[in-house]
Amino acid sequence: MIIALKKNTRKEDRDHLIAWLESYGVGTHVSEGEYQTVVGLIGDTTRIDTDLISGLEIVDSVTRISEPFKKANRKFHPDDTVVQVADKAAFGGGQFELIAGPCSVESEQQVLTIAEAVQKSGAGMLRGGAFKPRTSPYDFQGLHEEGIRILLEVRKRTGMPIITEIMDIAHLPLFEEVDVIQVGARNMQNFELLKELGKIDKPILLKRGLANNIKELLMSAEYIMAGGNEQVILCERGVRTFETYTRNTLDLSAVAVLHELSHLPVVVDPSHATGAARYVKPMAMAAAACGADGLMIEVHNDPPHALCDGPQSLTPEQFDDVAKAVRKVRAAVA
Ligand code: PEP
Ligand code: MN
Repeated sequence: MIIALKKNTRKEDRDHLIAWLESYGVGTHVSEGEYQTVVGLIGDTTRIDTDLISGLEIVDSVTRISEPFKKANRKFHPDDTVVQVADKAAFGGGQFELIAGPCSVESEQQVLTIAEAVQKSGAGMLRGGAFKPRTSPYDFQGLHEEGIRILLEVRKRTGMPIITEIMDIAHLPLFEEVDVIQVGARNMQNFELLKELGKIDKPILLKRGLANNIKELLMSAEYIMAGGNEQVILCERGVRTFETYTRNTLDLSAVAVLHELSHLPVVVDPSHATGAARYVKPMAMAAAACGADGLMIEVHNDPPHALCDGPQSLTPEQFDDVAKAVRKVRAAVA
């Protein structure tokens, strides 16, 4: 249930209303927007009389929310959420970031070389997988703790905040210094992992599952938010369809739909969506044009020899070209 308060409602009156609502055993969530303050109710609201609340002096309107996602719902929080990363990067509310880096961390020299190059091209965040979810157990699985150590070292050298993927709750202590934790497509519905990430105070980038719909993505975000961590960045990375010329099918309509349904920022990953370096630029431009709050792009200094996802990785020079094109698109649609 959403209770929109009248403009200029006194704080004492608002707090009084909240205390009364909480006496019914529901949780409350206050969103102070530029134009209106909204109180969201979470839990069983069946015992709450909407007519009684509508009649209160300070209440503008009362709406029951039909969607199963509450904290992620734009009705709960009409303004865009801006997810701030270490005072260095921000996603949402008009703030846009390029995240770039290799699929997997291979060596310190490799990551440093790529980081310095993409930073020059305007990337605000560095990506790199230390724990890799691979289809085959015989493929490179990542450098694990050493991979995270390398990312932290490169952060120290460049100042770029870092994002890396978690695959197991047991690894959480290793991610303490990491700026943003990525939940990959394969773990989007690992609910126990999501619940644990809800207890920490760190931004989470949540990728859409290979065969999950938009509602399921929002419900997974809700798992994290329900635990108290509201710093969630959604990521569209393509879904599996009957198409075989691309690795996945990039669902750009998800950007528009998610922006309508939710206040959370939405990032697009054109690398995993297409699986081919030559399609990354057009899809990155399209994502920027339709309002994505950021892009995550795989960049490798030597794509043919990459230990993971070489075919979809851009060279630093190609990334520079994409970054320029994306800036032009953003300026054109602003
Ligand atoms: C990745 O970002 O390297 C990755 C494994 O992506 P996804 O979970 O989208 O497949
Ligand atoms: Mn990858």
